[in-house]
Amino acid sequence: MNSIIGHCHCKKIKFKVKANSLSQNFYKCDCSLCKKKSIIMKFLNKENFQIISGDNFLISYKWNKKIAEHFFCKICGVYTHHIRRRDPNQISINVECIDDFSISEHDIIELVNGSAYD
Ligand SMILES: [Zn+2]
Repeated sequence: MNSIIGHCHCKKIKFKVKANSLSQNFYKCDCSLCKKKSIIMKFLNKENFQIISGDNFLISYKWNKKIAEHFFCKICGVYTHHIRRRDPNQISINVECIDDFSISEHDIIELVNGSAYD
């Protein structure tokens, strides 16, 4: 598996992801929170995600059933990752936090119906 590094905008928070392929498991969610963030996420098992530095700059937001926990940087405000409601053993990351990466026209982005659980 490849190690992939990501940062928030101010680079206080640095994380590492292990994945066979970067361009898999991309999705957007239509719940009321994700719509306002307008992010493309990638989910993975939590053992393949690690905060390398800056965990003291992370703050989190929980709402509704308070199962999912959404993390963002308290300096730059960028959402980095969250613990998933539908499977708390999974982490989703903000794919635009990944270093030297941009979504391409060939990437498949699934739409998840999180609004059903709002
Ligand atoms: Zn930051």
